[in-house]
Amino acid sequence: MRRAAHQVTVYERSDFCGEVGAAISCASNGGKWLHEWGIDMEKTKPVILKSLIKHRWNDGEVFETLAFDGYEKHFGVPYYNFHRKDIHSSLYDAATNVNRDGTPAQIVLNHEAVEIDYETCSVTFENGKTVSGDIILAADGIRSRTKPQLGITPVFEKADSSCIRVLYDSEKAKQLGLLDFASNDAIEFWGTNENKIVMSPCENGRTVCCLCFYKCSEKSYNTFNRKVSLERLLEVLPDLDPQLCQIFKECGYEIKEWGLYIHEPLPYFFKASKSGKKGVALVGDAAHPMMPDQAQGAVSAIEDAGCLGEVFSKEHDLSVEESLMIYELVRKERVTKIQDASLRARRNLNERMGWNKDLANPHKLSLVEVCGYDMKDHIKQAVKLIKQKQFVTYSAEQFVHILS
Ligand SMILES: Cc1cc2nc3c(=O)[nH]c(=O)nc-3n(C[C@H](O)[C@H](O)[C@H](O)COP(=O)(O)OP(=O)(O)OC[C@H]3O[C@@H](n4cnc5c(N)ncnc54)[C@H](O)[C@@H]3O)c2cc1C
Repeated sequence: MRRAAHQVTVYERSDFCGEVGAAISCASNGGKWLHEWGIDMEKTKPVILKSLIKHRWNDGEVFETLAFDGYEKHFGVPYYNFHRKDIHSSLYDAATNVNRDGTPAQIVLNHEAVEIDYETCSVTFENGKTVSGDIILAADGIRSRTKPQLGITPVFEKADSSCIRVLYDSEKAKQLGLLDFASNDAIEFWGTNENKIVMSPCENGRTVCCLCFYKCSEKSYNTFNRKVSLERLLEVLPDLDPQLCQIFKECGYEIKEWGLYIHEPLPYFFKASKSGKKGVALVGDAAHPMMPDQAQGAVSAIEDAGCLGEVFSKEHDLSVEESLMIYELVRKERVTKIQDASLRARRNLNERMGWNKDLANPHKLSLVEVCGYDMKDHIKQAVKLIKQKQFVTYSAEQFVHILS
């Protein structure tokens, strides 16, 4: 939005001193926007993922290696893996640095939004302060408080699985003579449909992040970002590869658990004021929380940002309401497919994206359609229809059909 010549203020409830998580993989459909925004990629200390290595659950023996050869050549951007704190500080810099194009965004911390009015486009914070603007982009996460204020009742249920995250320092593991996974620059995988471990290095290979998913009973998963003990991990995944167990025992830290929730797609992503000159839109997990099994949650949030930058740019010259309509039409169709595919991949490993379309399973997503997506072109088509006023003659479903 800054690059599109808007004045932006970001209100964040925390003080940014808390943890911002660990590894986050960023496929090319997110990475291409980071490149476009001029993010200094070296400063994000990325690991460029080169393969997927599959291990046997009980003893860690490698039984398959799938190289991502040609990924960058095909999609124009590598498959990045970041430490969240690094990508977060690079995005912060892109938003606030005075030496970049546009007006630097203001970041205001310790402001928790409690009330949002889309008619006046105003936000009231817990401290009693109220501010207003032309557009509110509510990126307030999976537990968004904005949704109900736009008339949306989120429909969700607990999944029957939970995720325990363990980090370890690769240097320490090497010094102790333990297996050196970090230097593979790979996603390492142990698993079955029910229990699985996804490991990946970040921070130039220094930190290794292991996401351990397990099938659980009702009692065990009602938790969010809660510290748990290593004993708990070993209790829920008792028959784990002993070499992995040893790494966890000797070097594991920041062991935390997230219960997983299945969210139904939302009916809409925005509300405009009666005049059409103001509006509030949901962005990121607030709009489309999904299972982590296709690693597309944050990438989809990056795509949302890319879309907003386009629809609110001078190039398209649209009203607030028109811009938000295009945002919803372009984004909702795509993220709903990805949300659905992420849930299917939670339940069935074969639903993980393959390179090309699987003709026997047309719902299954392919890397070509997800990573090779040309959103700018999609937006251009939508803008053309809006400008020709064709939009008013179509229902949203017909419009989505025309675009696709
Ligand atoms: C285990 C796990 C692994 C994952 N791995 C990947 C991966 O590899 N790749 C990937 O693309 N995605 C991954 N994801 C998904 C990804 O983490 C999320 O999709 C992403 O963080 C969503 O970003 P967001 O900015 O929309 O929301 P959040 O990251 O939740 O940020 C919301 C922000 O809003 C602030 N906030 C909330 N409420 C208010 C309020 N009322 N007022 C002011 N501020 C507020 C919060 O403090 C926070 O800073 C994973 C998720 C999980 C659980």
